[in-house]
Amino acid sequence: MQHPEKIVIADAHCDTILEINKGRKLGLRLDTGHLDIPRMHEGGINIQFFAVFVEEQFKPHSVLERTLHLMDDFFKEVEENREKIELIFSYPDINRILKGNKIAALLCVEGGEAIQEDLALLRILYHLGVRCLTLTWNHRNAIGDGINEKPIGGLSNFGIKVVKEMNRLGMLIDVSHLNQGGFWDVVKYTEYPVIASHSNVYELCNHPRNLNQRQIKALAEIGGVICVTFVPYFLTHNSDTAELDDVIAHIKYIKKLVGVDYIGIGSDFDGTETLPKGLEHAGKIPSLIDALWKDGFKDSEIEKIMGGNIIRLLKNVLKG
Ligand SMILES: [Zn+2]
Repeated sequence: MQHPEKIVIADAHCDTILEINKGRKLGLRLDTGHLDIPRMHEGGINIQFFAVFVEEQFKPHSVLERTLHLMDDFFKEVEENREKIELIFSYPDINRILKGNKIAALLCVEGGEAIQEDLALLRILYHLGVRCLTLTWNHRNAIGDGINEKPIGGLSNFGIKVVKEMNRLGMLIDVSHLNQGGFWDVVKYTEYPVIASHSNVYELCNHPRNLNQRQIKALAEIGGVICVTFVPYFLTHNSDTAELDDVIAHIKYIKKLVGVDYIGIGSDFDGTETLPKGLEHAGKIPSLIDALWKDGFKDSEIEKIMGGNIIRLLKNVLKG
């Protein structure tokens, strides 16, 4: 098979920034947690999305302040490891960073609470380097409703303005955590493809965090990407015994439904307590590639799933 080092691997979601806030050093290989630079090297990860996730105790009044502090923690870590990792601001950055043998990091904010009800704050976050916004977490905010709210509301008028402003700025819209009504409004109003950065298939595991057939088809129709996540609860009802094959099952289902051009990987490393057997940390990514290969996926298909589709998406969305 193709050696993992030869394909570009992208992971569309991790919550490692919160760990950095608690003292994780990205440059050190740890035996705890899921992701650091040495383990990204072992796993062959070239492009990593890093989400800023604000904990409940800071909501709603201190979300922006906490977001900025977490970003500062992350920027310090990137600066300290500048020989090995660099932030993506525009599409051409990706090639340049990868050519320099560094990891390309995309900064995301998970939950639109950070911008309150103010497009100026969205623009400021963009200017600070944020290139992806998960519109909601599980609850309601000024943009729309998360999956834990009653599934009636779509996007608010402000939420529709956010979609349009993100389109204009060249920011990636993330629909993971968003409820059904919000999802369909995003599909209706966005002019650019969107991402579900860490969601699986509802028909295989009926958790509200997963997307159903109709949603996956709609996402594919606008050129978006659904990034299969390793969170055991979103893979199978027997979450205690989740394994690599469950991840493969979700990938195969999406492939059968819409083809391989709309599938990505969104691990949720450091955002979940447990991980499937065989995918315990970022260094284990080659096992996933092996499993896809053994299952009969072609090299060209593996290349798309493991990173090619996310690169296409970033090319279509990011400016420059
Ligand atoms: Zn999440």
